Amino acid sequence: MVCGLTSCLGSGAAGGLFSSAVQFFAATQCLVGETWPKDSVLQNGSRYDFIIVGAGTAGSALAARLSEVANFSVLLLEAGGDPPIEAIIPAFRETLKASSVDWNFTSVENNITSQALKRGIEQQPRGKMLGGTGSLNHMVYARGFPSDYHEWASIAGETWNWTNVLKYFMKTEHMTDTNIVNNPELMVYHGRGGAIEVSGTNEVMFSIKKFLQAFEELGFKTVPDMTYPNSIGAGCFSHTIRNGERDSSLRALLNNANSTSLHILKDAFVTKIIIENGTAIGIEAVKDDEKFLFYADREVILSAGTFNTPKLLMPSGVGPSEHLRSLGIDVVADLPVGSNLHDHVMVLAFLVADNGTCVSDEAENSMEAIKYLYDRTGFLAKADNMAAYLPLSSSEPTVPEFALYPTCIPQFSPFRSGCLTLGLNEDLCTELHNLNQEYELVTIAAVLLKPKSRGKVELNSINPFDDPLIYAGTFSEEQDLDHFPRLIKMAWSIADTNYFRSKNARVIKPWVEACSNLTESAWIKCMSRAMVTSAWHSVGTAAMGTVVDGDLKVLGINGLRVVDASVMPKIIRGNTNAPVVMIAEIAADLIKEHYSVSRTGTNLNNMTIGNLTASSMPNISQPNINLADVIENNDMINSSLIEVEITNVELITTTDRLSDIDDTVNVA
Ligand SMILES: Cc1cc2nc3c(=O)[nH]c(=O)nc-3n(C[C@H](O)[C@H](O)[C@H](O)COP(=O)(O)OP(=O)(O)OC[C@H]3O[C@@H](n4cnc5c(N)ncnc54)[C@H](O)[C@@H]3O)c2cc1C
Repeated sequence: MVCGLTSCLGSGAAGGLFSSAVQFFAATQCLVGETWPKDSVLQNGSRYDFIIVGAGTAGSALAARLSEVANFSVLLLEAGGDPPIEAIIPAFRETLKASSVDWNFTSVENNITSQALKRGIEQQPRGKMLGGTGSLNHMVYARGFPSDYHEWASIAGETWNWTNVLKYFMKTEHMTDTNIVNNPELMVYHGRGGAIEVSGTNEVMFSIKKFLQAFEELGFKTVPDMTYPNSIGAGCFSHTIRNGERDSSLRALLNNANSTSLHILKDAFVTKIIIENGTAIGIEAVKDDEKFLFYADREVILSAGTFNTPKLLMPSGVGPSEHLRSLGIDVVADLPVGSNLHDHVMVLAFLVADNGTCVSDEAENSMEAIKYLYDRTGFLAKADNMAAYLPLSSSEPTVPEFALYPTCIPQFSPFRSGCLTLGLNEDLCTELHNLNQEYELVTIAAVLLKPKSRGKVELNSINPFDDPLIYAGTFSEEQDLDHFPRLIKMAWSIADTNYFRSKNARVIKPWVEACSNLTESAWIKCMSRAMVTSAWHSVGTAAMGTVVDGDLKVLGINGLRVVDASVMPKIIRGNTNAPVVMIAEIAADLIKEHYSVSRTGTNLNNMTIGNLTASSMPNISQPNINLADVIENNDMINSSLIEVEITNVELITTTDRLSDIDDTVNVA
């Protein structure tokens, strides 16, 4: 059985013990897994209250929340299938890119940027599986800054102001990062009772500690919580990891949704939204080469992500009229769908340093595998990430415009494959690979967080199976490029800090043909233009204010909402996953309120308090009735009555307001 090793295996007690230990560990890999939601068996032509397209970060959260309402029937369709084991084990995150669970989108070549990228285009990985990109991402927990949401509120209304979105961030969060949990000042902004775990790592990697010291020497404050409002500096992120496994809206919410009214169809590719007389009434989908029609009595909700949501709206006639007409599509609503595409803009800076710079006390891979299988600890169980946030100028020290994300790559790493997946071209990856045979590599991703440039998503054709055309638009505004000399020089200055100097760190300027013989700042600009890539946080293609309103309803169409990253009118200063979950949480409450259902599922129109029915209560406008408002606005309802009735009503989001009213109110 153990080929080639049999001669050394003892047949006595010790040999038996070791053999069974090996078998035990081999078998425990089967425990790394999850019972994913089952495919429903559905009749073609069935009707549901809500149809949600896409079980990604947003769709998984939204479907789970809507299914809390017993009398809502919900159909969730997902083009992909179950996530593989690599989507569960944090350290395998990189292997998911360019795999079969990635949509493998790319931008369109523009001959202006990306000359040093493979085929002159940017890679745009996106998850095609349950959990969507939330099953493939790097699990960094970030929220953006209060000023990001002041901006949203000015565009889309007060639902999106910082105070309100913060409540929703906290609602979903189960913070266990001890650096934060043990600090009451930080915990003011965190939740402990939510579904998605946000954890820290007990052992910060050696190289991360060295980077933090380096940034401190460069004048950055070390911050204990990268989500603390209005405080910027360098620090480690918390991650959405639970017990050494990826946590996400899929695992924490959809997987635990316990409702017979939620139907899930995997490997079901939605090809069209059916719109009749200005109302979305259903969708067309293909599963196993068979065409299905499903109908929505209340709403169709698109959660297909920044690239696929516009791709679904446009064939149904919702989009820019000129583009639609050019493809022979009848225009139903002339809206700027697909425009306003933007993303954080990323350019890599490189250093080389002596061997041992990245030292890790991590033992060999097989030992790490055993640790993981034994108790989900060790290198495989974690994602260590840090960043340094920088303001535009020292006069605005609370709002970052840029971020630096350093990584230390030990000698002889499998760097080449990661380099190619990132999208750099063969020559560049070979040059860096060769350097890595001799030195350790330090890469510093220099990121512009609030670019002015905008791109667009268009249809390639009317064939629903064609990928969308992604015009990244990177550096279409020259001002964005102007920031990079300062940013890259800041990244390089890590070489001139104590530890990295002691390791003979020095700057490497990779060979970029288009940029030879230029002065330093000109070279940086030229190289940045040639090497720039997406930071994988694209947003904005069905933006609030232009395509959807503040309730996320598509303008001019009934029964159609968008709930995903595409609705962000402007990108936030941070990674986008938690904000997308927050958008889904808010959308769920907006929908429940719209259909007069309390936020956890009781239809308030049917509710009685004492001898009052909801409809007979004074001061309450129908139908958007909310139990907390009922209680606050009705002096005539005495607290003991409330106490009796409240035991029949599940309340989550209103508990704080209720306890303000009367301490005797007992909310179970
Ligand atoms: C490589 C990478 C790393 C990232 N790392 C981080 C990170 O560390 N932290 C962070 O905060 N953010 C990160 N992000 C960003 C974050 O994950 C995304 O912003 C977020 O997941 C977007 O959620 P969404 O719901 O809008 O889209 P998605 O999660 O992409 O969901 C869309 C879903 O719709 C499905 N779908 C699409 N079209 C159809 C169709 N026609 N029919 C049926 N189903 C369809 C897709 O398969 C997918 O499941 C990362 C992104 C990438 C690409």
